[in-house]
Amino acid sequence: MLRGSFSRLLVPIETVKGVGPATAEKLKARQIETLEDALLFLPVRYQDRSRTTLVADLTPGQEALVAGEVVRVSLGRPGPRRVTSLTLEDGSGRLTATWFGLGGGMGLEKGSRVILCGRVDEFKGRPAMVHPELIPSLDDPDHAGRFVPLYRPIPGFSVRRFRRLVGSIIQGGLRSLDSPLPEELARKEGLLDLAEAFRRVHFPQEPADASLEGPPRRTLIFTELFLFQAGLGLSRLARREERSAPVAAFSRAREGVRAGLGFELTPAQERVLEEIAADLAGTRPMNRLLQGDVGSGKTVVAAAVLAATVLSGGQAALMVPTELLARQHQAELTRLANGLGIETALLTSSLDQAVRREVLAGLEEGRVRLVVGTQALIQEGVRFRNLNLAVIDEQHRFGIRQRAGLLAKGRGVHLLTMTATPIPRSLALTVYGDLEVSILDERPPGRRPVVTRLLPPGRIERAWQAVEKAAAQGLQTYVILPAVEPGRDLVSVKERHRKLVKRLSGLKVGLVHGKLDREEQVAVMDRFAAGKLDVLVATTVVEVGLDVPRAAVMVVEQAERFGLAQIHQLRGRVGRGGTKAACLLISQAQGQSRQRLKSLEETEDGFEIAEADLSVRGPGDFIGPGQTGWPDFRLADLVGDAELLAGARRAAFRLLEADPGLSRPEHRTLVEILDRRWLRRLRLSRAG
Ligand code: ADP
Ligand code: MG
Repeated sequence: MLRGSFSRLLVPIETVKGVGPATAEKLKARQIETLEDALLFLPVRYQDRSRTTLVADLTPGQEALVAGEVVRVSLGRPGPRRVTSLTLEDGSGRLTATWFGLGGGMGLEKGSRVILCGRVDEFKGRPAMVHPELIPSLDDPDHAGRFVPLYRPIPGFSVRRFRRLVGSIIQGGLRSLDSPLPEELARKEGLLDLAEAFRRVHFPQEPADASLEGPPRRTLIFTELFLFQAGLGLSRLARREERSAPVAAFSRAREGVRAGLGFELTPAQERVLEEIAADLAGTRPMNRLLQGDVGSGKTVVAAAVLAATVLSGGQAALMVPTELLARQHQAELTRLANGLGIETALLTSSLDQAVRREVLAGLEEGRVRLVVGTQALIQEGVRFRNLNLAVIDEQHRFGIRQRAGLLAKGRGVHLLTMTATPIPRSLALTVYGDLEVSILDERPPGRRPVVTRLLPPGRIERAWQAVEKAAAQGLQTYVILPAVEPGRDLVSVKERHRKLVKRLSGLKVGLVHGKLDREEQVAVMDRFAAGKLDVLVATTVVEVGLDVPRAAVMVVEQAERFGLAQIHQLRGRVGRGGTKAACLLISQAQGQSRQRLKSLEETEDGFEIAEADLSVRGPGDFIGPGQTGWPDFRLADLVGDAELLAGARRAAFRLLEADPGLSRPEHRTLVEILDRRWLRRLRLSRAG
């Protein structure tokens, strides 16, 4: 193995002396499997343990190190509820330390000397500490005599053991590591050598090292972001080398779609279409994200692009996250593309075998030119003759894998991804370093704003009156709740459904949530879409793309439990048929949380809402649980480190511009790391 090479760190954690399979298993709970993983498990904070403090000088709330003699020990009754305590005397005063629930005695005896570290409390007028750390010796650099790191707890593995583990990795010869960053760049950015950064982040040498903005941490975060951006840049370059069939028939497609729509396109739709047409005129694969608020008319844009591709002789596919949406889009596309003589096929997992075989054969032979489907599109048996364009709607519901999976169905496939979850511009541009972004920032005319009102739970009756009134006019209502099952402080859809069936006795009230099986979900939503239900009580499963023109009222209960962007998405489900629509937010929230919800009464600008949400809640809402399409950074925080991210992106792209093949010797380490991490991940996803 190369000396100083980064790959030294990629060996299993079991190679550290004293780490056996049982220990390794515990570490795995925190994704620590290699030496590198352990080093990247950064301290959450530090304690200054460079000096001891006299008991007489302690102030409550302070974190301190005290040393003295044990003058009293009480071991309590053994068992899980054991309370152990001792009193320490250091000549200036006495302090009581207490531990709850520790098994076994701690081997402390009256007369022995101890060193304790913890937060100072007061108990019966005397300084006290609860669960202080017991420190063997002031000279033990793992635990005392310096700024000592504290880590996120690892179940079954004490922080002291973890410190020792990291200490032994670092002492075990982490003198110098080749950095993936070229020296010149590292110098310009004021970054440390990687080995030094690891050492100082775990064993701070000066106060700045223990700061969250200090040079060691900055170095590591920048490196992580840089690697990510370099990976993005490389895959972008690789896509650029692919050749695509240009798409030309835009004006015909546009005319056809306009005729099918019966309205003029909005100026924003025209502009976005032009941006896309320009991309498709070339032989490089397009990679564009279309962001448009709910109801901004993305489907129409997609229809024109899909039609243009088919008219130009290629095959086009539209992938959406649910069966219901697939059928809805197919119907819409059929309507829009009808005049152009384009037929659409549907491919979902619930097709019967004969129909499915027919569609698959049609795709493979090139007879089927336009297909709408779910993830069924990326299954192995699906082959295209010449897939030229892939459109992915509600793209935030998909991950890198699915995206890559669809692209792998052809060569040089143009990609258009669409989303109504307004990813803040700042985030989209930096995270999707490999994407162009188009924005539909205007709604089709005639859409009335959704009137939004915030109500306290005590006035929920007003909401039910509104529901009755709407139903009397043949209009429908969604009632959205955060939970399926009742829980502490949570109103569940099941409870609400039961109560509403009684309260709205003349109306038909349906229930849908993610714990029903898929067919049942689809059946209920179908009935709602067909107007056979007046009210649909639901969790956020209805969030995505559902288009029910008669839906005019939305009630969101416990609204404080949802993100603003999410509520904004939800309310986009009502008023789609040009009727007057209302969104009633029920919440007991006070203070800032209430102010946030109030802001929804005032603005309908999804981007503004998203930026507000981002600053309060972090990117989680945009990323969503289990979302694989977003990178999961170990160190970087997309919001807090936005500036570093931008810098890393510039640096990575500049480097790739100068050396697109990464063939220069000074980029050897970068290649090595990218190869192991990023490229392998991409290859895996192509295969999967
Ligand atoms: P989203 O961007 O949320 O996917 P849709 O594409 O579903 O929005 O469009 C919302 C509604 O607006 C649809 O009923 C669609 O037919 C209509 N629409 C789209 N573009 C126009 C337009 N230029 N003029 C009038 N109505 C339009
Ligand atoms: Mg849509």
